[in-house]
Amino acid sequence: MIDVGSLQRWIRAFADAVSDNEALLTQLDSAIGDADHGSNMARGMKAVVAKLDTGPAADPGALFKQAGMTLVSTVGGASGPLYGTFFLRMAQSAGPASELDGPAFAAALRAGLDGVVARGKAAVGDKTMLDALVPAVAAFDGALAAAPEDIAGALRAAADAAAAGRDATTPLRARKGRASYLGERSVGHQDPGATSTALLLETAAATLG
Ligand code: ADP
Ligand code: MG
Repeated sequence: MIDVGSLQRWIRAFADAVSDNEALLTQLDSAIGDADHGSNMARGMKAVVAKLDTGPAADPGALFKQAGMTLVSTVGGASGPLYGTFFLRMAQSAGPASELDGPAFAAALRAGLDGVVARGKAAVGDKTMLDALVPAVAAFDGALAAAPEDIAGALRAAADAAAAGRDATTPLRARKGRASYLGERSVGHQDPGATSTALLLETAAATLG
C-alpha cells in the first residue's frame, strides 16, 4: 500500500531532483526551446514543497490536488499546465482513499497520463514528456500484472522505461511544443520535458517502493 506519507516523500524527492538538475534541464531547453524548463520546474516544485511545509495533506487525493493546482498557478510555460494536469487527474482518480494499492496507483498514473494527452494533444514519438511517461505507465501496468504484490518492482520497471524513453527522444524530430518550431534542427537533442519526467519516475521508484 502507498500512503500519503510516502507520496509526500515522493513529491519532495522530485522537487530535490528537479533542483539538482535545474541547470541540465535549462541547458537541454536552451538547445531546442527557450532555456526555461529548469527554472519553470524548480519554481513550481519549490512552491509545491512550500505548501507541504505549511501542513500535511490529508490523503493522496488532497496531496495530488494541491500539487497540481500549485503547478498550474506558478509555472507559466507549457510544462506547468501539463504537470499540473497530470497531478490533478491523479487526484481525481485517487478520490478520498487514504491509501493506494498497486491497481489504484496504476489507475492514478493512467489518469494522469490521459490528462497530459488531453491537454497537450501529443503522442509517443512527438519528442515530449509523453515519450517518457507513456512507456513508464505501460511498464508499470505490465509489471504489476505479472506480479500484483510487487509495487516496488513495478515502479523500478516504470523508472527504467521512462529513462529509456527519455534517451529515445534524442534522434526524434519535435512535432509538439516550442521545439517543433525548429523542425529538423530539433534532431540530436534530448527533450527537456522527457528528462524531467524520467526524474519523476526515478524518484517514485526510490520513495514508493
Ligand atoms: P515552454 O515550452 O513553454 O517553454 P517548458 O520549457 O517548461 O515550457 O517545457 C518544455 C517541455 O514541455 C518540452 O520539452 C516537452 O517535453 C513538453 N511539452 C511541450 N509541449 C507539449 C505537449 N503538447 N504535450 C506534452 N508535452 C509537451
Ligand atoms: Mg521552455
